[in-house]
Amino acid sequence: MYQKLAFFGNSPAFEKPKSTSNLIKPDMDKFLSYIKPYYDNEDLAEDNLLIQKLENRLATIHGSKYCIAVCNGLWGLVLAINELKIKNKTEIIMPSLTYRRMADIAAWLKMIPHFCDVEIKTFGISPRSVENCINDNTALILAPHPIVNLCDIEGLLNVAKKHNLPILFDSVEASYACFKGKPIGSFGDAEVFSVHASKFLNGFEGGYITTNNLDLAKRIKAARNFGINHNQNVITLGINGKMISPHAAMTMACLDLLDNQIEKNKERFYRYKELLKKVKGIDLVEYNLVERRSFKNILVKLNNFWPYNREETLVFLQKENMVVRPYYYPPLHKKKAIYPTIIGEIKNAELLMNDFMLLPCGEFVSLEDIETIVEYLIYLENNFISIKEAIDIFNNA
Ligand SMILES: *Cc1c(COP(=O)(O)O)cnc(C)c1O
Repeated sequence: MYQKLAFFGNSPAFEKPKSTSNLIKPDMDKFLSYIKPYYDNEDLAEDNLLIQKLENRLATIHGSKYCIAVCNGLWGLVLAINELKIKNKTEIIMPSLTYRRMADIAAWLKMIPHFCDVEIKTFGISPRSVENCINDNTALILAPHPIVNLCDIEGLLNVAKKHNLPILFDSVEASYACFKGKPIGSFGDAEVFSVHASKFLNGFEGGYITTNNLDLAKRIKAARNFGINHNQNVITLGINGKMISPHAAMTMACLDLLDNQIEKNKERFYRYKELLKKVKGIDLVEYNLVERRSFKNILVKLNNFWPYNREETLVFLQKENMVVRPYYYPPLHKKKAIYPTIIGEIKNAELLMNDFMLLPCGEFVSLEDIETIVEYLIYLENNFISIKEAIDIFNNA
């Protein structure tokens, strides 16, 4: 009966791993057409024509006045926070249930992450919890959009305004989304995006910051170039945080594919939605179908009918070469940190942290692959008694 599973030594469902990342791959010629002028002219300026074109294109897409391309998302966040934080204050309020490296960003700034809670409905940072964490040391609110949903933008902007605090959105997971018809990228003091190969746009590596604040844009632009502005004056503390031209060319080529990519993501999402109806123990986390969304990830909840815990489930599926991942686990307050942290509210993060996982998606997952994946889920659900028995025999053999 259990012969199907790779866990028991059978051949896996997929020969090659099926990722949970987008992995969009534009045509090689497209990429080369963008990189060729740069290659011919070897324009090394940190804001050469290609970088400028990309920044203008992204600013238009996000409905923001300015865009600054940087080496990656993480350093984009560090640079933006360094310019935005209230001077001489030390704490950054951020959720615990989020991107696994988020607290490191505070550590690089010699600041302290203060973990607040998320909302049960969206998994987004909770405005009420942010407000409870605000104190005399608060320097900035860092609001990452969760995977699939958006955080409560209006609620957060109100809290920031009421307490006169800067607010920075980490919008890596919300690229392409709209809130009340307005594109993500134009909210708060600034927003940060990543174009790492695994994200919505694949620039190999890279990131960018959007803002409507001219002074901030100028300072971040200087900060990515060792702190030096266009007059060759050092105006702020900088790093070498430039985006390199091959990464810009790759991002441009991906932008040409945008509509096509969204269509394909949507098709995959609807196939999952249709097929997962047959699995009683698994609920698909739905996208808002009214507003614009990227349909980039497939996030599911293992409900009370599902006969395995998440870690067991992950092992079964990973053996099949399905590179399934838990949703932001462990949350940051559970991780051992080598720098100071403050654990504020985490009740909802604890409630949510064990039940969600990401299923394979993106460019290299076909509709047939989705059928195979769900077929395995159905098999696991229907045969759990014999599978559990087999595990005992297997473990005692
Ligand atoms: C990946 C990611 C980052 C960091 O981006 P990099 O370009 O990989 O440095 C930041 N925030 C979130 C939510 C991410 O998923």
